[in-house]
Amino acid sequence: MRRGRWLAVLFCLCWLMIAAWPAGAKGENENTDELAVVTADRVNVRQGPGVPYRPLANVHRGETYRLLDVKDGWVKIEWKPNRTGWIATPYAAPVQRMEIVQEDRLRLRQEPSLDGRIIGHLAQGDRVAVIQEEGEWKQIVTNEAVGWAAASYLAAAEPLRNSQRTGVVTADSLNVRIAPSLDAERVGRLVRGEHVEIVETKQDWYKIVARSGSGGWVAADYVEMKSGQAVESEEDAVVASVSPVGVSLAAIQGNGPRRYVSRWTRGPIQALAGKTVVLDAGHGGKDGGAQSVNGVVEKALTMETAERLKEKLEMYGARVVLTRAGDDYVPLSARVAAARLYQADAFISLHYDSAADRDASGITVYYYDRFADYGLAQSFQGPFTQLSTLPFRGIAFGDYYVLRENERPSVLLELGYLSNPSDAGTVATDGYQEAVTTAIASAVRRYFE
Ligand SMILES: [Zn+2]
Repeated sequence: MRRGRWLAVLFCLCWLMIAAWPAGAKGENENTDELAVVTADRVNVRQGPGVPYRPLANVHRGETYRLLDVKDGWVKIEWKPNRTGWIATPYAAPVQRMEIVQEDRLRLRQEPSLDGRIIGHLAQGDRVAVIQEEGEWKQIVTNEAVGWAAASYLAAAEPLRNSQRTGVVTADSLNVRIAPSLDAERVGRLVRGEHVEIVETKQDWYKIVARSGSGGWVAADYVEMKSGQAVESEEDAVVASVSPVGVSLAAIQGNGPRRYVSRWTRGPIQALAGKTVVLDAGHGGKDGGAQSVNGVVEKALTMETAERLKEKLEMYGARVVLTRAGDDYVPLSARVAAARLYQADAFISLHYDSAADRDASGITVYYYDRFADYGLAQSFQGPFTQLSTLPFRGIAFGDYYVLRENERPSVLLELGYLSNPSDAGTVATDGYQEAVTTAIASAVRRYFE
């Protein structure tokens, strides 16, 4: 009974959020300021808005990505489903709109004038990003160049949001890939009955965003289209309330997922506003930590977890500080000092376990101080128990330096055993990283509630 009432409340909340969505959002700059196009040949995507931040990936001229934020001469993009990073603005520009070239061998010029030097040609049907307009000219970005084309030979591409629909996964297990090809890297997995938003179609593939938060390409054969809207039942509304991504999908209601994502960072859920969380990715540099039989190194995995977690906590409005920015060796004393320096409301040290007993498996939460740390540790009980991928071993006292010497509320999480081949295989997957960081973010929210 109580559960039923909760469902009803959540359901109403979701609808309220939809109703309260700024009316100006719809139609305003339709299909714009949501994409960024890369304007230089090869550009680093960095972990943060500045050159000192670690490069995560390379992107190339003409490629478009979801634009999430603009800050101090840097733009934040989603360079891979659920992975974000920053590009310096000279090398990326917000897309005004996507357009289709209407004539074969359309000239691309250096200047917006018939006297402008010809720097290339476009083919009929090419999809190009328009970044600026000047009189009868539009500045566009292709894989080869940035130049100007006569506006009369360009026509607006069909907005993606018009083709956006809801689907349900019909296969027991459906791979999500980074590109529409069976050879493309697998970035996630969906199970039967999962709801997805279809944002793009390419031959036999759908580009989807799942309610669970993962996104990418799936074989269209295994997704059944639904004609209904994003939120149809109480059950859907509850799913939608679990994760911020879910809420975004509930909140879009015909407004397109890309539209939402650009607003998401300043979205309505700011449960952790004013809180500072220091995330400590265990090990680093010369200290690799534990290593699995299949070569997974703890220091790399803890960093991956920290980065994903940082993103999630920031979505809830928290200020998040990492004790290391890349593969650096940072002494334990410096990690503890960061908690003091930033007056952390919570310090979370991330690790992966190792034991002589190869059967040892699962997640453990360690605390040191019965008074200062135990409350934080306890908030993990629920989210970790609900995690289906690895067993939760429980909350335990741990005499670790980063806890013992810490003046701030702190816990150390061991998120699976690298010494156990099965655990090691699990923890390295995209699905586990998503699930475990969602669980941790949920625990942090519980703690501050
Ligand atoms: Zn460790």
